[in-house]
Amino acid sequence: MKIFDNHMHFGECKNIADTVQKYREIMERYKYEKINIVSLPYCSENDYQLDETANLCALYLKEKLNPKAYAYASLMHYKNETGQDLLKQAKMLIAMGFDGFKTLDGKPNLRKAIGIPLDDEIYDLFFEYIEKEEIPYLIHVGDIEILWHPEQLPQHYVEKGWFYDESYKTNSELFDEAEGILKKFPEMNIIFAHFMFKANDIDYCTRLMETYPNIKFDLTPHPDMFTDFSAKRELWRKFFLKYSDRIIYGTDFYDIDVNEKTDRMVNIIKKFLECEKEVHVWDRDLKPVFLPREILEKIYYRNAESLVGNKAKAVNIQKLSEECEKLKNNSNIKYILEDLRKGDNNV
Ligand SMILES: [Zn+2]
Repeated sequence: MKIFDNHMHFGECKNIADTVQKYREIMERYKYEKINIVSLPYCSENDYQLDETANLCALYLKEKLNPKAYAYASLMHYKNETGQDLLKQAKMLIAMGFDGFKTLDGKPNLRKAIGIPLDDEIYDLFFEYIEKEEIPYLIHVGDIEILWHPEQLPQHYVEKGWFYDESYKTNSELFDEAEGILKKFPEMNIIFAHFMFKANDIDYCTRLMETYPNIKFDLTPHPDMFTDFSAKRELWRKFFLKYSDRIIYGTDFYDIDVNEKTDRMVNIIKKFLECEKEVHVWDRDLKPVFLPREILEKIYYRNAESLVGNKAKAVNIQKLSEECEKLKNNSNIKYILEDLRKGDNNV
């Protein structure tokens, strides 16, 4: 069965040539036909500094893995920006060869750092554009509920500050903001990562699916997601069958070494979807949904491909090089420029 991992990041490898190699290893190990590389210009857990190289690196990676890779860009925020600025940026990114957009802006710490509601009118022109052009938008909203309850967390989480106090938006505030987008742009091709952290609330997921016929969920795991599904296995099985066109495979892998840990990540998804009887994966007992082959084919491959077409958009090397020129002091960008020039010579 063909597999399209619609949610992969990078940034673990310090140099971009190693990232290309790591991606190849991941694709080989898990027999991926295609991947979608999603850019994160704000990636540090602690200080959310803007990394302007992220989109350029994502596009370069796509080009290196052509024709097996697609890439989603992330909007970058600048001081005193306007809706027009964001629209202009988005059009530029699409012209460079991106296939869609991804944002982490709905993660509580980044939402706090950026300070703009997800459904703020500053995004209206951008949303209007991607809705009209049917450009997919992968969005991370919220987090694991327990992170708002430090008293329930292991001590080492609390010591490291891995919890949300009252200065952060709550999950329900963030979900309301996300729904604010849907109310304004109900036709948008929006994909909620990690099943929107709502695997414990099938009624909520059903209501969203029924109210907004274009939304999708991705299966990128978080620790309790598959345990939550298992708790209501029969109901979730019906949900997966009913909305099988709108559930998308993804792992959230970075450019990391493949090993038993990455095997476990893949296995927890695969076994949950495919097995008939209860299984023990990682440290979890799962009650799988045991989906038929034609449904699995959609979730593993066809749904992701139907968002972006069976051929990734061509990367505009000229535009990519021009943008790289502006940041050529960065070692990865310097490497990319040299490699793109070499490509020129080969032609
Ligand atoms: Zn992610």
